[in-house]
Amino acid sequence: MCESCGCGSHGPETIVVRENLLAANDRVAAHVRKHFDAHRVLAINLMSSPGAGKTSLLEATIAALPPGLRVAVIEGDLETENDAERIRRHGVKAVQITTGVACHLDATMVHDALDEISLDDVDILFIENVGNLVCPADFDIGQHRNVVLLSVTEGDDKPEKYPVIFRNADLVLITKTDLLPYMDDFDMGRALRAVQRLRGGGRTKDVSARTKQGLDGWLDWLVAELAAKRAPQPAAVA
Ligand code: MG
Repeated sequence: MCESCGCGSHGPETIVVRENLLAANDRVAAHVRKHFDAHRVLAINLMSSPGAGKTSLLEATIAALPPGLRVAVIEGDLETENDAERIRRHGVKAVQITTGVACHLDATMVHDALDEISLDDVDILFIENVGNLVCPADFDIGQHRNVVLLSVTEGDDKPEKYPVIFRNADLVLITKTDLLPYMDDFDMGRALRAVQRLRGGGRTKDVSARTKQGLDGWLDWLVAELAAKRAPQPAAVA
């Protein structure tokens, strides 16, 4: 159980504590987002179950980045520096946050990690959240976009079981699609219908970090989101 978000607790007192905690987190998240905006950085919150392939996707993404696109990564895990080290092997700045007992990142953790990143040298900051389909959905960490991964190895019923995180996703990525021929119990149609029911016409893409199938579409989405973020805002109507 996560001790910081009270996800296993019940009762009116814990509900009040939790609401105060979330409000305080939202204030820090707004502050973090101002940092990103001041440096024209697009921040992406990557969320999924453990083992859905977030770090592998990032490695494949880094290897295929268009020339001139600069990225950095914040890694969230309960323990170990392993994922940050995987990213650093590609020559990309990576800061590891170890959360101990907390099952999600919060805005203060991300704010602290920013001390180690020169945002002027970054176009897109990926924040790989702790592997968990529940708690990360509740905590704003200053991101601009939420990307949720669903791997074909974890079952086509996950969107129905964990609706909140999928509903709030700006993009759902079906990952490990190279394994589809071996996963005869994963019904892509069922998974997509469930995602669609939760998100209406929200974007869904599929990708294999191993074979690179679908990687171009994901990169195109990132480039378009960065361009949209940096486009001049229309003047306010008087
Ligand atoms: Mg990882």
